Amino acid sequence: MPMTTLILSTRNAHKVEEIQSILSGNFRFLTLNDFAMAPKVSEDANSFAGNATKKSVELAQWLSINAFKFEIGNTFVLADDSGLEVDELNGAPGIYSARFAAVGEGNSSDVANNEKLLRLLKDVAREKRTARFRCVLALTPVIPRKIEPQSPVCFVDEAEFRTEIFSGACEGQIAFTASGQGGFGYDPLFVPDGFAKSFAELGEGEKNKISHRANALKKLRAHFAG
Ligand code: IMP
Repeated sequence: MPMTTLILSTRNAHKVEEIQSILSGNFRFLTLNDFAMAPKVSEDANSFAGNATKKSVELAQWLSINAFKFEIGNTFVLADDSGLEVDELNGAPGIYSARFAAVGEGNSSDVANNEKLLRLLKDVAREKRTARFRCVLALTPVIPRKIEPQSPVCFVDEAEFRTEIFSGACEGQIAFTASGQGGFGYDPLFVPDGFAKSFAELGEGEKNKISHRANALKKLRAHFAG
């Protein structure tokens, strides 16, 4: 059986590293960096699942038309949409995690996002600083393009209806100060339940056993294992 190729619909080197190390040797990986001409997807859906599906389906559709030099058999696009939900902030930053502190177009830096989070939680007591990371993965097969007459009344897109969703969460608390050098994003502020250190202090090995991404990827691995 040929090896399954996963094309990761991201340029986030940290996500790529985590996904590759959690799924280890079972897949061949490519990323958006291997397809420089792929269109940019606007993440304007109102849920993690919506944005993950957009990132996955739009790249799979583009690949099915444009990747003519590419061996498509047994290939899937995998998109990760993830973020932090803080209970005291009614679930914010949520789907806006990457641009929490942004004042214009585009994402804000991790440092600015973390500073804003600490500022908003300045007067919030330890027991009320509960939060969770969520990760939603969308998996879409890359289907060689078939030219079919499309009904303007009921158009069903194959990439979309064959997309599968896998979700994971990791519960924890927001610390009072940032600590640790590992990871990315809100890792220096997030202390997972059962630990006294932030994700950034725990390091990749520990984080990848318990994280939201690890929990979603376990379900994806089980899906492929049949
Ligand atoms: P996305 O790339 O649009 O899914 O944005 C995800 C954002 O959520 C990142 O930019 C981080 O701010 C945050 N995030 C998601 N996963 C993690 C993680 O594992 N650690 C720290 N921050 C994360």
